[in-house]
Amino acid sequence: MPDSFVIRGRFAPSPTGPLHFGSLVAALGSYLCAKSRGGEWLLRVEDLDTPRNVPGAEASILACLERYGLTWDGPVTRQSDRIPLYQAALEHLLAAGLAYPCGCSRQEAGDVYPGTCRKGLAPGKVARAFRFKVNALQSCFQDELYGTLCQDLARQVGDFVVRRADGPFAYQLAVVVDDAAQGVTEVVRGADLLDSTPRQVALQIALGLPTPRYLHLPLARTREGEKLSKQTGAATVTPDAPTLRAALRFLGQPEPPASLGNNLKSIIEYATEYFDYKRIKTDEIPATLAPPAA
Ligand code: GLU
Repeated sequence: MPDSFVIRGRFAPSPTGPLHFGSLVAALGSYLCAKSRGGEWLLRVEDLDTPRNVPGAEASILACLERYGLTWDGPVTRQSDRIPLYQAALEHLLAAGLAYPCGCSRQEAGDVYPGTCRKGLAPGKVARAFRFKVNALQSCFQDELYGTLCQDLARQVGDFVVRRADGPFAYQLAVVVDDAAQGVTEVVRGADLLDSTPRQVALQIALGLPTPRYLHLPLARTREGEKLSKQTGAATVTPDAPTLRAALRFLGQPEPPASLGNNLKSIIEYATEYFDYKRIKTDEIPATLAPPAA
């Protein structure tokens, strides 16, 4: 094995609001996966979806992570500083015939876009978005907790958007480009992104990029079973020991000794030493994904 091999994880929050319990779980889970094996942990702010960015959210997320003792390696990166990388990836896809401009509106495209304008824009249509051409094969990935999961992209997703009609590059493209450019070896994030992963793997293959290790964490939910998010009114977390202990419990990890009291740094150190990802429970597999056909 080359001696330059490093384990490198990341936390990639969107600055749409302060840290809530669900995003704390994603931050902590990805931190512990990387740090418990001597790896690095990067912080990347995913701020491309400008209409959803909330002023002050980034500063509040960073300050909260620091108070928990979840310190990242290297400088914070922001997707808004990395647009030329996404542009280059789009040009690569276009040159390879794997992406095309599309003039259909969202209504015309429907939920599963069949690629109506793969062969060129219909007369009178202007390019609104750029779409990736999916092929008819299953796109599969291996998750550390769920095993191998596959999706029939052509049937269930269709040709998906890599650059939006209103300008920003889509999350699916940006995340793949960034994880590869930053040398990320493991992607640990919420299970709400399980069914984005086949699209991301298809893009990695098209762009000749490596596929990282994936581990999807269970989602923290409201009492009604909805994912905790700003939209479901999730409360901002307070950087204190009870919240940190609750997040560790949620991840199935051993209870740090009471003698550590409110010392967040010591709790994180204990959690890092005793972390075992195999204790993390899985959520239900989304209906859009399935184990590979035998
Ligand atoms: N920015 C995404 C979010 O906040 C996370 C993306 C990822 O971890 O791949 O939901």
